[in-house]
Amino acid sequence: MSKRILVIEDNERNLYLVTYLLQQQGFEVCSARDGTAGIQRAVQERPDLVILDIQLPLMDGYEVARALREVDALNNTPIVAVTSYAMPGDREKALAVGCNAYLEKPIEPLTFVAEMRRILSEPSSARDPS
Ligand code: MN
Repeated sequence: MSKRILVIEDNERNLYLVTYLLQQQGFEVCSARDGTAGIQRAVQERPDLVILDIQLPLMDGYEVARALREVDALNNTPIVAVTSYAMPGDREKALAVGCNAYLEKPIEPLTFVAEMRRILSEPSSARDPS
């Protein structure tokens, strides 16, 4: 069965690119454009992986990650934070709220899907518990 990935991203072009790259490699993709919708989608769809933009309307990606970790069924779902405005400390902040990995935009089409596969194959205990 193909793995399902939820992409929470408000930027149309990035959402299109990420969806295209993943679908081309056989992943099922669902998406949401803001944090609230993203949390709802995650609860409904129980994706195998969440790709989470940090700069989102209504609530930012850090708040979304925290909320996802409070849902028992999503506690071990890998979350990949993606940001276009990387500041010092952002990676640490993303890991601290429960993200498993942190990527800076622009998305690199040649390596992106391989990176997602790698994260999907990691045991859930690999997540930074801090
Ligand atoms: Mn954004």
